[in-house]
Amino acid sequence: MITKPGEDWLTVEFHCHTRYSRDSSNRVEALIHEARVRGIDRLAITDHNTIAGALKAKALAPDLIIVGEEILTQQGELLAYFLTEEIPARLSADETIARLRAQNAFIAVPHPFDRHRHGWKMDDLLRILPRVDAIEVFNSRSFRRALNDKALFFARQHGMPAIAGSDAHSLVEVGFARTLLPPFADADGLREVVAHSVIHAKRLSGWAHIKANMGVALGRVAANFGKTEESA
Ligand SMILES: [Zn+2]
Repeated sequence: MITKPGEDWLTVEFHCHTRYSRDSSNRVEALIHEARVRGIDRLAITDHNTIAGALKAKALAPDLIIVGEEILTQQGELLAYFLTEEIPARLSADETIARLRAQNAFIAVPHPFDRHRHGWKMDDLLRILPRVDAIEVFNSRSFRRALNDKALFFARQHGMPAIAGSDAHSLVEVGFARTLLPPFADADGLREVVAHSVIHAKRLSGWAHIKANMGVALGRVAANFGKTEESA
């Protein structure tokens, strides 16, 4: 059991996928249930380049869900929270950030140095840094611990707030990485409190990673058998 620094603090899962991401088998309803069972107070759904699943979840559990998106830009991936409009993939990072800021979204850089997963070149990262709100310093799916350590070191070095994400593609992983924060209700509120973040996180081990991916693949096969995307 994790002890919160304050009674009213929130346990936040900042990085989570649903079936609306092609590489996840998580049904929206199951994900909501799992988050509640595991004591998550705020669940950010960050599907790849779509907010459809997050909007569906928000309608089902408005108190729990933060509408997010993991957006592929030409320079690397970005995480964004409290979106009202979906951002398409493969725009330049500058254009993506401009569109996100126009809707006052909270912006973070996921797994910044994981080059296998659309990580950033240092020059590009440094250039966007003044326009982002936080760095994901811990990603439970980063195969190498050193990549997380490097992200944490980078965030500290540049005075950037830190968040963590399980990057859950299967239900088992929900809540692997938790960020504890004082209460917040929107992007501005999150900006005010994010510097106080306390992270409790564990990595998905190599074998568990393989099992989770196998589960995702099997889940998708089962889920797609005779069903439409409507039931995602
Ligand atoms: Zn992700």
